[in-house]
Amino acid sequence: MGQTKEYGVIGLVYNSGNWQLAFGISTGEAYNLPDPFVNNENGFIEITDLIDEFLHRHSLTWYRVLLLYSPPGSTQLFPILYKKYGPVIVVYPQRLNLHKQRLGKHYDNKSLMLVEAALTGLTTDLLLIETTNACTFRCLFCPQDTMSRKKERLPFETAKHVVEEYAATGLGGIAFHLMGEPTSNPYLPDLIHLVSQLGIEHTLTTNASTLTRNVSTALLKNGLHRTQISVQTTNKEQFYAYKRPAPKYTYEQVLENIKFFIQTKWQYAPDSEIEIHVMDNSLYQPRGVKSVINDKEAEKVVRFWNDFLTTAALEIDNKAILRQLKKSSKVTLARERWDNVNFKFEPTISLKFKMAGHWIQNFLKNDEIIIRARRGTCHQIIFGGYNQMAILANGDAIMCCFDYDGNTMIGNIYDDDLSEIDRRSNDIRNRLIDSNELPFEICKRCLGIRIKCFSMGVYRISSPQKEIDLQNIAVYGTTASSLTAANELSHIGIQQLSYIREDSMANEVGNNFSLPLSVVHKFQELEDDIEAIIFPAEWDITTKIIESLKHKYPNKIIAQIDVVALNNFDRPRILAAKGSPVRKVAKSQESKGISLTSQGRQSLWTKQCRRIMNMFRWHC
Ligand code: SF4
Repeated sequence: MGQTKEYGVIGLVYNSGNWQLAFGISTGEAYNLPDPFVNNENGFIEITDLIDEFLHRHSLTWYRVLLLYSPPGSTQLFPILYKKYGPVIVVYPQRLNLHKQRLGKHYDNKSLMLVEAALTGLTTDLLLIETTNACTFRCLFCPQDTMSRKKERLPFETAKHVVEEYAATGLGGIAFHLMGEPTSNPYLPDLIHLVSQLGIEHTLTTNASTLTRNVSTALLKNGLHRTQISVQTTNKEQFYAYKRPAPKYTYEQVLENIKFFIQTKWQYAPDSEIEIHVMDNSLYQPRGVKSVINDKEAEKVVRFWNDFLTTAALEIDNKAILRQLKKSSKVTLARERWDNVNFKFEPTISLKFKMAGHWIQNFLKNDEIIIRARRGTCHQIIFGGYNQMAILANGDAIMCCFDYDGNTMIGNIYDDDLSEIDRRSNDIRNRLIDSNELPFEICKRCLGIRIKCFSMGVYRISSPQKEIDLQNIAVYGTTASSLTAANELSHIGIQQLSYIREDSMANEVGNNFSLPLSVVHKFQELEDDIEAIIFPAEWDITTKIIESLKHKYPNKIIAQIDVVALNNFDRPRILAAKGSPVRKVAKSQESKGISLTSQGRQSLWTKQCRRIMNMFRWHC
């Protein structure tokens, strides 16, 4: 007689400051919920103790931990669970309805529902499908023009096969985008019809250039769940300068397309959600793009869309919508309102300011190079709140939605089953968690640190390169930001030889600069080993300082960290970005005579980092 196999599931929900646990086993007899509640402050050890106890009581053949996603606790708990119990399936509250539909009768028994979900589900919970990688625009902030992949379209039959395989085993959602403009693809409405029929939550991202009347009507009538309209700027000049559309696409036509799409949604698909995306360049301006850089401009954009929607609603005489728009027009926009949340005009239409991405550090200025990371942690792969996978137009399966050139490939849909690719992606996640070794060559650049070199001539390397590998760096300075720079370097695996700390130095910089003798001695001691001398970006380095250093150390790289590696958004490196709100706040505090302690700054940085994390959460 074979032993009955028991499968288990551990569900965790974060609820008003407490963690709630639900345990379940596949026999359906034993599950206890919703006890106990665990305090979030010190509760992580308690949570793992309780899970261990549950696992000890049942000898399970297989189990999965399901984290019902809800910030902020889940972000901290996720890596702990992942390390200890293997793949964690992240379940979004809004997806529970879908689980309900799929699991039908099991839904009443919540715990059993979770077991079923875990047993059948792939660990991927966001599948991106690139139906085409050709685009109608050549946006400056997009790496489209450096993409080396052949422009092609994923055949409908392949897309259909992927969707059906995913529906059979996956529990997550689908996003139709990566590179390219999906609405230019004539079969898109049929594909949307299929995913709606299969009950898969989905999102379409479009620049609205080919969102014609016919396409809009077909998509919405076929059950389109959610649309992100990548508007990025509402200024006509900026539209042409930054988005660089093919000649037949005009600013007016794009707005007209959006208006018709919204009116049709109001008419035929009231529950379909629309998110208008506008680019936030307050921290980072790839290739000089400055769409929205301050509160005033953000406010202008919100007003623009409120007026736009009001005109659209007036044209079709939709009084209910007009009432809601009147209400939302009265909201005063403060920074906290635009940088962190969706601004809702009416319950299903919102505006989101999205920070510009660096797309694997794709937009370097002439005097910038990357010190490549030797190790690190990627939030796209493991801490993003979901496990993602993307199928590119050529059938390649990749792990990262920033990977415009397909360098994080883990399989191809023509050769491998989706479940096999899913297993490989999980192995990679686990390895990254265990070792911090970067899984793909491209990650070294992505997580690397961007530095600004004062003169290309100071390189020891013979010709200027855009990426370098360094081991030993001296960080120069005494301030908290130099310490942060040093920390950053050690995070990416640089063996930082010295952190030059000299209390008198800060006064000397910017005045009559000369290197303090102790620093000179230290450098002399280490001279052979040090490859670069780095300053934090916060310092206004004068030519005199540079000249003095170059004279003294002609063979060293002398550079300034200008760290805008936005993918590492939980680290304080963002603070060093020029124009960062953190720096502005610090400055204004200081001008009021309040001098911020390093602790005060640290807490501002932490706040800022959280803000950035939140912004990226729905990157896809
Ligand atoms: S490190 Fe960068 S390139 Fe690598 S997977 Fe993460 S986000 Fe993508």
